[in-house]
Amino acid sequence: MKTIIIKNVELNGEPVDILIEGNIIKRIAGYLPDEADVVIDGHKKAVIPGLINMHTHSAMTLFRGYGDDMPLMTWLEEKIWPSEAKLTHEDVYWGAKLACLEMIKSGTTAFLDMYTKFSSIAKAVEEMGIRAMLSSTCFDFFQPEQREKAKTHVNKLFAEMDNYDQRIQFALGPHAIYTVSGELLQWLDWFSKENNVPVHIHLAETEAEVQYSIKQFGCTPVRYLNQLGMLSSRLMIAHGVYVDDEEIQMLADSGVKVVHNPASNMKLGSGIEFRFAEMRKAGIPVAIGTDGCSSSNNLDMIEAMKLASLLGKGWRKDPVVLTANEMLFAATRQGADMLGIKAGRIEEGYLADLCLIDLNLPAFTPNFNFVSNLVYASNGSCVDTVICDGKIRMQNKRVPGEDEIMERTAAIAYNLIKK
Ligand SMILES: [Zn+2]
Repeated sequence: MKTIIIKNVELNGEPVDILIEGNIIKRIAGYLPDEADVVIDGHKKAVIPGLINMHTHSAMTLFRGYGDDMPLMTWLEEKIWPSEAKLTHEDVYWGAKLACLEMIKSGTTAFLDMYTKFSSIAKAVEEMGIRAMLSSTCFDFFQPEQREKAKTHVNKLFAEMDNYDQRIQFALGPHAIYTVSGELLQWLDWFSKENNVPVHIHLAETEAEVQYSIKQFGCTPVRYLNQLGMLSSRLMIAHGVYVDDEEIQMLADSGVKVVHNPASNMKLGSGIEFRFAEMRKAGIPVAIGTDGCSSSNNLDMIEAMKLASLLGKGWRKDPVVLTANEMLFAATRQGADMLGIKAGRIEEGYLADLCLIDLNLPAFTPNFNFVSNLVYASNGSCVDTVICDGKIRMQNKRVPGEDEIMERTAAIAYNLIKK
């Protein structure tokens, strides 16, 4: 089995040596002999678990900066949907490669995705060497024929899962309550229970969605899913900006998990009063995501941690809530637990998914409190080395093949908007 040893790296303020054997963190000690296939010098570096981005649309890197500062529906109808309709498997593959590249460069080793062309995204993730739980976006627009098509597609994708590396996981991805009928949502919930796979949905994201829900279904989005019998520990909701006290209790009682996307909520003007602290207090697992690159423009989870904390402090006028440590927990352990993977911690027996942070930077000087500097002073560019599944995916800030990925993806993106 291949071994890696990281010498003299800072873990919780203490220098340690870390031995990785295969894809597992085997030993952590003050000193270990440097007998390994690869020895990494960890001097002036700190180790953290690989970050976990719990909500994105990976291939939307292709639309980064294409139509910003527009009203949501105009932007979707004039820019995004016409371009997405032209996407080929090849386009999505390169878009997802660029997303993985950007994630690796900013310390992310696993993500929860929602997009189309599942197999091409899976291929990109496999090649880039990180982990992903992929959900294929599912719509029926309340049309029975579309519903049957969606079911057939889900069955087909699920049946193909054996073709992929164990780093790829499956989830169901109903887009939202205004694009997916109650019948299809209930079928997906049945499928999820039957096959023990998670469901990932956008929910309670905007005021418009809440108004729509009240008008169409006679109640708010969380209550609507409750009526459909969909609230369960298999459900992961992205956004959840609009939830009242009673809904928080419903989510907590049924074990639903929530993903906060601060950049997207601000940029799209969706709303800022995400009730992170109340949800945590009620016992709801809350993780952090960036959302896609056309609504947050980057996939930097260090920036997302900072925004989640500052936004929550800001709207409450309370500097004590949402500490740097809580943000790091949400972006590592919490995400790993939601994905059901033994990662998110630097401990013996855990998956070797980790990053080395370059401490030789102004953002880490002085270094009274490493986690504070990481969350509040730094950004994704402080990541020097990334190991995922026991393999080096980036070293000295270079990812193999990165120039080609950027060139190819840019060419595809320029072409797409000309088509
Ligand atoms: Zn989204």
